[in-house]
Amino acid sequence: MNILVTGGAGYIGSHTAVELLEDGYEIVLLDNFSNSKPEVVNRIKSITGKDFKSYKVDLLDKQRLEKVFEENPIDAVIHFAGFKAVGESVANPIKYYKNNVVGTLILCETMNRYNVKKMVFSSSATVYGMNNTSPLTEDMPLSTNNPYGSTKMMIEMILNDLSYSDRDWRLSILRYFNPIGAHESGLIGEDPNGEPNNLMPYITQVAVGIRDKLTIFGNDYPTHDGTGVRDYIHVVDLAKGHAKALKKILEKQGTDVFNLGTGIGYSVMELIRYFEEANEINIPVTLSGRRPGDVAVCYADPDKAARILDWRAEKDIYDMCRDSWRWQSKNPEGYK
Ligand code: NAD
Ligand code: UDP
Repeated sequence: MNILVTGGAGYIGSHTAVELLEDGYEIVLLDNFSNSKPEVVNRIKSITGKDFKSYKVDLLDKQRLEKVFEENPIDAVIHFAGFKAVGESVANPIKYYKNNVVGTLILCETMNRYNVKKMVFSSSATVYGMNNTSPLTEDMPLSTNNPYGSTKMMIEMILNDLSYSDRDWRLSILRYFNPIGAHESGLIGEDPNGEPNNLMPYITQVAVGIRDKLTIFGNDYPTHDGTGVRDYIHVVDLAKGHAKALKKILEKQGTDVFNLGTGIGYSVMELIRYFEEANEINIPVTLSGRRPGDVAVCYADPDKAARILDWRAEKDIYDMCRDSWRWQSKNPEGYK
């Protein structure tokens, strides 16, 4: 079974590539390395001891994408490739709509052409917007308040229309909550470009001395300690969720959407405390106002994925904190 992994050199894609190889799949990795390094490919090979083809191809480059399908008998696609920085999407919406939405359209068109009609897609809990109350269930109304979120919502609509138009399409739309952690080898992990937007890479960069202190964005939320609550999920659990979703669409017809989260919410203060405790490191903090667009509380109801995909997150918050730190401390400057 040959699986094309778009965005396979990225944070979640690389961990999923490892799981797929360890499950016995063959993979073809595709990435334009706009937000990742080619070195990731070597690391995946060294963790798994397996070889595979990788292509430096941009999804927007239709000819080169077709060549990948021409050269490889692809059975299904796991589609991670996309831009993901909320702030940048507000500043440069065209860049985001073009890369994420047009990129996905070109991919679907090419898949149609080569009669490959099975896809697992990376959506996000951001599509639940500001108005739903956690725990979030897959049937809740969707809305977004930034272009990045809108690209995810639009792509979900496109994929639903596609599966309605042609029942041969089998799509698994996965709404991720907050992936953190890294492979236990410490060889692959999250390697943000420049100043991190997300909490955990910020914490690990403070811990390793790249940044002086962490800024907590708001302590006046209606939560138990006033700081924002999120559903942090170990990236290896998330990767295993992809393997389960893939298995499902390879075996059975139909299109469906699943939350991939733990169902447990931790506040910013709690995450910092667990990190400090797990790794015996002090994280200096300072307080600022709320970050625009942030919700107070966001965590999943993970029951549907448990029932239908037979998947549940297994790693706890200490595993997440330890593995994040192992990656950062072994690779202080990421893949550089
Ligand atoms: P990432 O940036 O580490 O990985 C994405 C990869 O896609 C990168 O390696 C990048 O170089 C590549 N890419 C981007 N545009 C491309 C294009 N046009 N052609 C080929 N390759 C391209 O991000 P990630 O954290 O691994 O996220 C993977 C997916 O999951 C993204 O679609 C993201 O929106 C989604 N997601 C991520 C999170 C998160 O917190 N990390 C949460 C929810 C959803
Ligand atoms: N956060 C913070 N300081 C930072 C980055 C994030 O206090 O430097 C907070 C943010 O306000 C939110 C939580 O940490 O409450 C998780 O933020 P992240 O950006 O990681 O995830 P998202 O908000 O996209 O779910």
